[in-house]
Amino acid sequence: MEMNRVLLKLSGEALAGEKKQGFDEKTVYDVAGQVKKILDKGIQLCVVIGGGNFWRGRTSENMDRVKADSIGMLATVMNCIYTADAFRVFGIKSHIMTPFACGTMTELFNRDKAVEYMEQGEVVFFAGGIGHPYFSTDMATVLMAVEVKADVVLSAKAIDGVYDSDPKTNPNAKKYDSMQMKDIVDNKLGVIDLASAVLAMENKMPMMLFGLNGEDSIVKAVTGGFTGTYVNV
Ligand code: UDP
Repeated sequence: MEMNRVLLKLSGEALAGEKKQGFDEKTVYDVAGQVKKILDKGIQLCVVIGGGNFWRGRTSENMDRVKADSIGMLATVMNCIYTADAFRVFGIKSHIMTPFACGTMTELFNRDKAVEYMEQGEVVFFAGGIGHPYFSTDMATVLMAVEVKADVVLSAKAIDGVYDSDPKTNPNAKKYDSMQMKDIVDNKLGVIDLASAVLAMENKMPMMLFGLNGEDSIVKAVTGGFTGTYVNV
């Protein structure tokens, strides 16, 4: 597959490393180093980050879902600010776009401007999800990838691919090398949320899912040596 423009999705949990909370500087710097290598190959890149290292939805039934999701969206903004700053340390110029105003901390989302930045070899972070509750960063990932016409979504997680059962509880769990987005939709597999899987299927947006902690795993997804799960559309 030819890759000219990719969307990198990082789960919040993956950024936290072993700690599972907040940031692990070493992990984020490693991501920055890999992104530099990808940009140096002339491949354009944008980023969506989850929020799970800060916030995992409502704390109880009493909490209003809209408020909980607002906090989740803000968590993704914090993640993007941190990661964009790590990219700066590696000489990468980046821009953070949000679907809602965050004062001087981010710019308002603009598809054409995002494409322009990427064409200049700069990275664009899409923070704040799609700006509405009841959605996830999976949805933002697929929607942004479709809007900016990325060739593929590279989804780096704390787990190294899609398994037929939970490898944490089943030592015989098998990892899929590839699968169809349609199977995720038809069987509600939960690899990504259902609405995002439908959007990816309808707009033919493939996904590569892999572990962030594998050596050079993001670079390998682009240049060869990929060992995660490829989701065909
Ligand atoms: N969120 C939202 N709308 C969006 C994107 C995210 O409301 O468009 C909220 C939602 O509460 C979600 C949280 O932000 O749970 C963080 O995103 P996600 O759970 O996808 O993070 P991850 O688990 O990938 O770290």
